[in-house]
Amino acid sequence: MKKIGVLGWILIGFAVGIIVGAIVGKPITVIRPLGTLFINLLKMLIVPLIFSTLASGVSTFTGGKLGRMIGKTFFWYYLTGVIAMVVALILAGMSGIGTGFPVGELKKVEIKPMPHLVDVGLAIIPTNPIESLAKGDVLPIIFFAIVLGMSIAAAGKVADPLKNFLEAVAETMYKLVGYVLWYGPIGVFALMAVNVGTYGLSILKPYALLIFLVYLANAIQFFGVYPALMRLMGIKPYYYLNKIKASPIFAFTTCSSSATLPVTMRVCKEAGIPDRTCSFVLPMGATVNMDGTGMYQAISAVFLANAFGIQLTAYHYVMIAIIALLASIGTAGVPGAGLIMLSMVLGAIGVPVEGIAIIAGIDRILDMARTAVNVTDDAVATVIIAKTEGDLLPESLLAGKPIS
Ligand code: ASP
Repeated sequence: MKKIGVLGWILIGFAVGIIVGAIVGKPITVIRPLGTLFINLLKMLIVPLIFSTLASGVSTFTGGKLGRMIGKTFFWYYLTGVIAMVVALILAGMSGIGTGFPVGELKKVEIKPMPHLVDVGLAIIPTNPIESLAKGDVLPIIFFAIVLGMSIAAAGKVADPLKNFLEAVAETMYKLVGYVLWYGPIGVFALMAVNVGTYGLSILKPYALLIFLVYLANAIQFFGVYPALMRLMGIKPYYYLNKIKASPIFAFTTCSSSATLPVTMRVCKEAGIPDRTCSFVLPMGATVNMDGTGMYQAISAVFLANAFGIQLTAYHYVMIAIIALLASIGTAGVPGAGLIMLSMVLGAIGVPVEGIAIIAGIDRILDMARTAVNVTDDAVATVIIAKTEGDLLPESLLAGKPIS
C-alpha cells in the first residue's frame, strides 16, 4: 500500500474537519486552541524566514537582475489583478447581485481614515530595522533585506561570512517549516471544524448568491486564468498547481496569506524554483498582491450598492475596479483585513460604509476562498518569473525536463 505522506494527512484533516464541523456545529469551537497553536507556529517562522532568504537571495543577484526582477514581479502581480477585476465585475454586473437585499438597521461602523499615500511609501523604510523585525512589519523587513543583500554583494569577499550565515539560517528555517508541517493535519482539522461549525445554514442562506459568486470568481481565476497564463509561458499548469496545493489548502483554512507564507515558500522551492526567486516574489506578494481579495471587494461593492438601491453606471464599475485593486494592495495578509479595506471601495462609489456590517457576519466564509487565491496568485507569479529568468532548477519537470 502506498504510504500516506504529510500532505495526504493534511487533506484528510481538511475533509474530516469539514465533516466534524458540520455534524457537531457550534460546540466544536472548544477545539479552537488547537488551530490557534498551528497559526502561531506558522507565524513564528515568518520573520526569520523572509529576512534570511531574501537577504541571501538578493546577494546573489548580479548585473541588472534586481531591477528586472522588480519590474517583472509587479508586471505579473498586476496583470493578473486586472484580469481578476474584469472577471469579478462581469459576474457581479450580470447577476444583479444584492438587488432587494434587506438592508435594515445598520450598526455604526468605526472607519479609520485612510493614510496618505506618501506616508505609506515612507513607512516602508524602517527607521529601526531591529524594531521592524521585532514587530514583524513585513514591508520594512523586505526593504531592509533587499538593501542588505545588495550591500553584501557589493562588499564582496569580506561579507562572505554574513552571506553564509544568512544562507545557513535560511536552510535551517526551511527545515523548521517541515517540522511545523507535521502538526499540519491536526491544525488544519481544527481550523476547518471551527470554521464550518461556526456557521449554520440559516445564517448563510440569505447570502447564498454572494457566497456563490465570490467562490465562482475565485474558481475561475484559480482553475482558468492562472493555468492559461502558465501554459502561455510554457509551464505545465496542473503539474505545478498539484505540487503547490498545500499552500492554497493552508490559506483556505487559516485565512491568512502571511501565516501561509512559510508553507508557500517551501512548496515553491520543492517545485523546483530557486530560493532567490521564491524569497523575492513571495513575501512581497503575500502583502501587496491579492487577486482574491480584489475580486471579493469588487463583488461585495456591487452587492451593497444594489442593496442600497444605488444605480451603478459604467463610471462606477471603472472606479470599483481601480479602487478595489488599490484596496487589495493595502490589505494585510491576515483574516478579515479585506473587509476593513472594503470601506475604501464603498466610500469611492457613495455606498454607506456601514454596509460592511452586512457582510461581516459571514466574512470568514468568503475569506477562505479569497485567501486561497491570494497565495496561489503569488506562487503563479513566482514560477512564471523563474521561467522567464531561466532560473527554474534543471531537474524540474516545469522546465520540460524529466526529474532525475
Ligand atoms: N485574509 C486575506 C489574506 O490573508 C486578506 C483579506 O482579508 O482579504 O490574504
